[in-house]
Amino acid sequence: MNTAVSEQPSLVLIVDDEPFIRAQLRLSLQREGYQTVEAENGREALTIFQERQPDIVLMDAIMPDLDGFECCTYLQSLDNGKYTPVLMITGLEDQESVDRAFEVGAIDYVTKPIHWPVLRQRVKRLIQQSHLQQKLEAANLELQRLVGIDELTQVANRRRFEEYCAQEWQRMARNQLPLSLILCDVDFFKAYNDTYGHRAGDRCLQLVAKAIQDTVNRPGDVVARYGGEEFAVILPTTYADGAIHLAARICATVRELAIPHITSQAKTCVTVSAGVATEIPVPNSDFQEIIDAADRALYQAKTKGRDRCQQYFKQTSSPIYILNSGNRGQG
Ligand code: GH3
Ligand code: MG
Ligand code: MG
Repeated sequence: MNTAVSEQPSLVLIVDDEPFIRAQLRLSLQREGYQTVEAENGREALTIFQERQPDIVLMDAIMPDLDGFECCTYLQSLDNGKYTPVLMITGLEDQESVDRAFEVGAIDYVTKPIHWPVLRQRVKRLIQQSHLQQKLEAANLELQRLVGIDELTQVANRRRFEEYCAQEWQRMARNQLPLSLILCDVDFFKAYNDTYGHRAGDRCLQLVAKAIQDTVNRPGDVVARYGGEEFAVILPTTYADGAIHLAARICATVRELAIPHITSQAKTCVTVSAGVATEIPVPNSDFQEIIDAADRALYQAKTKGRDRCQQYFKQTSSPIYILNSGNRGQG
């Protein structure tokens, strides 16, 4: 059997303008158990490639309309990370043609007349390699997902938060656009655990995380578990008014979950407090700045009575005010 990975026989796309060569390849490959599909020029090959997603392409170099080299270049952009191998089969043996074939992305090169025992092994190995690469890629993606996700709440974890925050901070600095950050903390959560038990506490965190996640809707917005009962929302390209609006909605959504919390001193249900900071980053500055700012705003939301959001205002007045102020933030 020619298929090392999948159950289905592998599909070979044969691209050649000569009907005789196509027939020869088709018969030999089908004898080996492959499925085949044919195109008589590069243009047709591109259409069939997209429709059928073959496991390998056997490509003639010289063809009318769109030749094998050009076709190979286009195929690279259609491949979507599937690493479909393209094997050039051609009468051209000069150094320039061979070099060009590899430059445009062919993985290997065999010359006509076709030496079948060699071609047979090449096709088999190239398909195996490509399937293996696809599997590795998928495993890698899953691993990346796992290292970035908080097990309890299924939102991004602290590590992913730090990475993403740093990345977006740099990006916003380059483009001189605003980055907003919301830090949310569950109110009187120690009391919640003491009253309802740690397992109920865990379930509560899951519900709160989901409520926050459901509130944000732009693809670039990331919700993360920042610490025990603390969540962060990173909002790239978002000005302060948008971020405050969202923070207020988060507070309202959690309140509306109406999770009973009889020992809370804020309400009779679970609530969160939120601190909001927005900055257009100065190039080469540290993203920790915005975290500190949101943290100060959160502290203010807590001291003002909890179950509310608070915006951070950057201190611009005289240092005497800072020295005399007992507050951790200005709002
Ligand atoms: P505040 O309103 O000021 O935020 O008060 P608080 O009680 O929420 O804050 P504090 O920092 O005193 O307590 C946080 C509590 O969160 C204590 C800790 O046991 C609990 N906690 C942290 N992580 C978890 C978790 O993963 N599961 C559960 N069940 N509880 C957690
Ligand atoms: Mg806390
Ligand atoms: Mg808390």
